[in-house]
Amino acid sequence: MKLLFSSWLGTTIDNRGKEADSWEDCPGVKLPESFDNKRGMTAFIGWGGVVVLKEPYDIVEMAYSYAKALQASSCAKCFPCRVGTKVMEDLLLKILEGKGSAEDLTRLEVLCKTVTDNSKCGIGQLGPGPIADTLDFFKEDYQGYISGGKKRANLHYPYKMTAPCTSACPTGMDIPLYIEQIKEEDPLGSLKTIRQASPMANSLGRACFHPCENNCRRANVEKSLAICKLKRFAWDWEDQHDVQPPANPNMHARQEKVAVIGGGPAGISCAYYLALHGYRVTVFEKLKGAGGAVFTGIPQYRVPNEILEREWRYVESLGVEFKFGVQFGKDETFKSLRGQGYKAFFLGTGGDLSKSMGVEGEDKGYEGFYPGIEILRKIKLKEEDIPKRKHALVVGGGNTAMDCARTFRRLGSKVTVVYRRTAKELPCDPHEYAESLDEGVEYMFLEAPTKIISKDGKVVGLESRKMELGEPDASGRRRPVPVEGSEHVIECDCIMSAIGQDCDIFYLKEDPNIKITKWDNPVVDEQTLQSQEVKDVFAGGDCMTGPATLVDAVGQARLAAQSIHQFLRGEEVRLSDEQIMEKVIRKIGAYDKKEVIPNYPKGWERQPMPICDPDLKQNSFTEVELGYTQTQAMEEASRCMRCYIVGMACVTNGAGS
Ligand SMILES: Cc1cc2nc3c(=O)[nH]c(=O)nc-3n(C[C@H](O)[C@H](O)[C@H](O)COP(=O)(O)OP(=O)(O)OC[C@H]3O[C@@H](n4cnc5c(N)ncnc54)[C@H](O)[C@@H]3O)c2cc1C
Repeated sequence: MKLLFSSWLGTTIDNRGKEADSWEDCPGVKLPESFDNKRGMTAFIGWGGVVVLKEPYDIVEMAYSYAKALQASSCAKCFPCRVGTKVMEDLLLKILEGKGSAEDLTRLEVLCKTVTDNSKCGIGQLGPGPIADTLDFFKEDYQGYISGGKKRANLHYPYKMTAPCTSACPTGMDIPLYIEQIKEEDPLGSLKTIRQASPMANSLGRACFHPCENNCRRANVEKSLAICKLKRFAWDWEDQHDVQPPANPNMHARQEKVAVIGGGPAGISCAYYLALHGYRVTVFEKLKGAGGAVFTGIPQYRVPNEILEREWRYVESLGVEFKFGVQFGKDETFKSLRGQGYKAFFLGTGGDLSKSMGVEGEDKGYEGFYPGIEILRKIKLKEEDIPKRKHALVVGGGNTAMDCARTFRRLGSKVTVVYRRTAKELPCDPHEYAESLDEGVEYMFLEAPTKIISKDGKVVGLESRKMELGEPDASGRRRPVPVEGSEHVIECDCIMSAIGQDCDIFYLKEDPNIKITKWDNPVVDEQTLQSQEVKDVFAGGDCMTGPATLVDAVGQARLAAQSIHQFLRGEEVRLSDEQIMEKVIRKIGAYDKKEVIPNYPKGWERQPMPICDPDLKQNSFTEVELGYTQTQAMEEASRCMRCYIVGMACVTNGAGS
């Protein structure tokens, strides 16, 4: 991007004094041009350096505000950070007030280095560097204050303390804090921290795809921390020790009723946050239990339903009513619920329709052909006995495909996954792929089905065409291209389609004002998740985004609950400055995969997860992962480097300025 100055991640671009059309490009930095639709953003300071996009800016004022934010964010556990950031703040204020001297600049420089070298966590280790950059590159600006001539610009400096793992988590969970609490032998404190961001520590701790771990700085030293499994440990500890989870001090403190449609992770989470605000929340769920795709899709050996039930029962205990067997659009409608006094709606109906493969024979009802989502539900909810199959094919390469494959291995079938690209492009979680191989699932890559072959109404084979990889498509993955004349038959007695899901939003027909996308998702404002046409309607989770992940659904539900709260209070429905800052930080990237981290001894291995007996793993639906012991959890938590960082923007009043 074109900008005035950048020292981001050690690369200096300095376009000051040059004509705008001759500015050198800075491809490594991505920042929004405006802070929100009312205010402009002209500069950014944070762990990686200083960036100035354009005038107006006041580097000394920004450095002072940043030092103040560091001091406010310091956990005060180590002396260099606690005292050093305070002295920095005081020195910078002195300079801003025109009382500083050249010696103060030298003092600041020394201080930046001392705090960086001697602090124990990210605030002290990564915080002072950008201040040192301002001293290096903006000497004249400092000189302007020291000689007494320069006046403060009085710009606005919102900031956010986060961490690379937290920034990557859609729920914004304070990950370093809950890990520290486990390390300090306080699992209940840890669970309290987790619950501030999600009621689903249990499901997330078992099945989250953990974007946090892909953004863990420990991975720059050795393996990333087991952030996800530590979450589960905190929940398991409370559960195993029969500790009563905290009650809701605001239960039904407000009169307004809110209808949550769909009792999946998005619905459960939205209901939870609203209940904590004191609203009277009812979840309308068409099935006989809550949990959505966790209840019906994620197999028992990954997330047992007995454990899931304890999770939503906790939300129920906070004052949320769950009404099961109620299909919105049929048993209840917007009109009927508005008539019953509901003041806002959260749509969290997910996507539970299996996408059609579009191949011949798919709609003929052959015995042995199953849409993946449907068969997983039948097995998990024990709706019917599934006959043993000799050879089951799974078409697709995502997580539903992995669950179908691993489930049928447990039912005693030979299983082959048929996927149209190669192993490299598999969209499923790599851990799931590895587990499937371990359990004996086979793969046929570069194959695309063309026809289901049947005999006497039963599946006997799949006609498939060979593929080769062409140019990358919009997703960046190489497009599969059919090899003409390569059709062949794979013998099998069962085929499962697992190529994606569609959303069933038939209930929106009642209100044509609510816009929908061409993929049948309700259109809501991407910041607030509020429908712009029908203001009492909000949406999140898979029904809004299409098939995604648990943690995405929970993160959106948290946001939607905040928006519903603002809407019901008659306030402007908007993100807070802190939330906008988190987005800014995500854009510039809180985690640098290439960062070289000195002074950390290698070889502190990640704790292995204890698993059940291999026989049970192979042949039953017993939960595979057993969870960490307390000793293991504390050992693993001790690997956390507490990579807290602070990012700060320089914000002007007018969007364009
Ligand atoms: C087989 C499978 C495995 C997966 N594995 C993982 C995993 O390991 N990790 C991960 O992060 N993500 C995984 N996912 C994705 C994850 O489960 C979803 O992203 C998440 O559940 C979405 O939550 P949601 O609440 O938006 O929707 P859902 O979980 O789909 O819940 C929607 C709920 O709304 C109900 N509903 C729908 N229509 C109506 C209506 N008209 N009236 C009343 N109720 C209605 C449904 O019955 C359902 O209970 C998996 C998904 C599947 C299908």
